[in-house]
Amino acid sequence: MAITKTDFMRGMQCEKMLWLDKHKPSLKVIPEEVQKRLDQGNEFGDAAMGMFGPYEEMTVFRPGTQIPDKKAMVEKTKEHLELGTKVICEAAFSDYNNYCAVDILRKTDRGYDMYEVKNSPEVHEQFIKDAAFQYYIVKRNRLEIGKIFIVIHGEDENDPFQPVEVTEEVRKLYPWINENIWRLNRCQKEKEELTVPPGDQCLHPYECWYYGYCHKTKEEDGQEEQLTLL
Ligand code: SF4
Repeated sequence: MAITKTDFMRGMQCEKMLWLDKHKPSLKVIPEEVQKRLDQGNEFGDAAMGMFGPYEEMTVFRPGTQIPDKKAMVEKTKEHLELGTKVICEAAFSDYNNYCAVDILRKTDRGYDMYEVKNSPEVHEQFIKDAAFQYYIVKRNRLEIGKIFIVIHGEDENDPFQPVEVTEEVRKLYPWINENIWRLNRCQKEKEELTVPPGDQCLHPYECWYYGYCHKTKEEDGQEEQLTLL
């Protein structure tokens, strides 16, 4: 059990959220509108793969499932890097089992530029942190990264993919990722459920999917206990 980009971002919002993801994921309730937004984001991401023309996609699923086979994806990515493939999508990297899949890598004279796709009209701080996690894992795999971009959803629907350069902001966060990634690795492995009092982190930067679980009133707890006893 190691840390992915999603784990990192969720763990930085709240350690307990990360712990629940790993140990009690069935408690999460994803609001319908959030799920819709996530699906739209995936569609935008899929469409963005072709923004530089022909590409190779690294996604590999475990046989008979829609679950990504991360190990196979990392191997496939290595092969394409050795081949010098010009555009690699969902390029997968692992470092001590910490894992990320970069939306798009585009070959340059010296290495690759990195693109993180977001279905949003502007760049948010969270996106920079998101890209910083990926940059950290990719750097530790010794791949030379030149420029880093967030691809946002521009106004022209005929050509909506608008790259915004964030190279310097992302590079600066390397030590911050290093400080926290190993701490979160330890948190998620704790045997006992973490105790974190509800607070601002329950709604910022994103509404937590365990909100109902953590904000249950004592009365609701009591009612549930009674039902279990019946
Ligand atoms: S509801 Fe709040 S305290 Fe509970 S896991 Fe989510 S962010 Fe953490």
